[in-house]
Amino acid sequence: MELVLSFREKIKQKVNQAIKQFSMFNRQDRLLLAISGGKDSLGLASLLKDLNYSFSCLFIDLELGEFSLKSAEKVSLFCKKLQLPMQKVSVREELGIDMQDVMAHYPKNACAACGSIKRKIFNRYALKNSFDVLVTGHQLDDEAFALFSNNFRWDFFYLKKSFPVSNSKDGFIKRGKPLCFCRENETGQYALEEGIDFITDKCPFSATNTRSFYKNIFIEFEKKYPHWLEEYYKNFLNQYALLNSIESDRAELKRCQLCGDLTAHEICRVCLIKNHDWKR
Ligand code: AMP
Ligand code: ZN
Repeated sequence: MELVLSFREKIKQKVNQAIKQFSMFNRQDRLLLAISGGKDSLGLASLLKDLNYSFSCLFIDLELGEFSLKSAEKVSLFCKKLQLPMQKVSVREELGIDMQDVMAHYPKNACAACGSIKRKIFNRYALKNSFDVLVTGHQLDDEAFALFSNNFRWDFFYLKKSFPVSNSKDGFIKRGKPLCFCRENETGQYALEEGIDFITDKCPFSATNTRSFYKNIFIEFEKKYPHWLEEYYKNFLNQYALLNSIESDRAELKRCQLCGDLTAHEICRVCLIKNHDWKR
């Protein structure tokens, strides 16, 4: 007799499968979960807890007014309820960067700039506090959209970023995305069914990314070809070994002349952003 799984069990199984298939982490690893207050990262926290993983949470305060205040509140109430250790770090205190200033200087690329800034903070925090793996709540739709836009340039360095796991290298923490087999509507349904109180407001920076542009295209696409996005991402994963064996032609990493972090250039992207020297 075929076993009929509940929706909750199905999602749990998908997360478990992703963790195992890509050897993301095991129960001995020290895990740091990047938690934003959105449905994906709060849902992932609940799933990881259900799967008996122990982990700490890190929230980055972007200090973007009401949006950041609400997000911080959702995160701290959630972590308290689930008894999860949580730390909050502010971009201003950590890097001396004012995100409103980033918005003013990069009105078309603020979202991409914010991504680089958050990645730097995650990486530094995780290494400084001896974590083994940084876990994020990126789901399949996020990954497929990013892949689609990076596909345009066929830059293998960027294409590889859509893999569900990236191994640690000198100066870079291992990263894993356990929701890579879950569609965005599934993480939304999961969070609602579990009664998770997540933030529904849009980040003020989101207007500067291409995500909603791709989302609208793929909504239309999937009306005609159901599951297209899923197939597209899964076909990419099937080429994992092949793509991973391609050495990207990036230069050797060196220390950023301003902050000392590893970078492929003289000055890292975040220092360029901070000094208004990032050319987009
Ligand atoms: P986003 O880039 O906003 O689509 O978020 C993707 C993932 O990055 C989330 O699921 C979180 O794991 C993480 N993340 C985004 N924003 C924050 C934040 N302010 N603090 C901590 N983690 C975050
Ligand atoms: Zn730097």
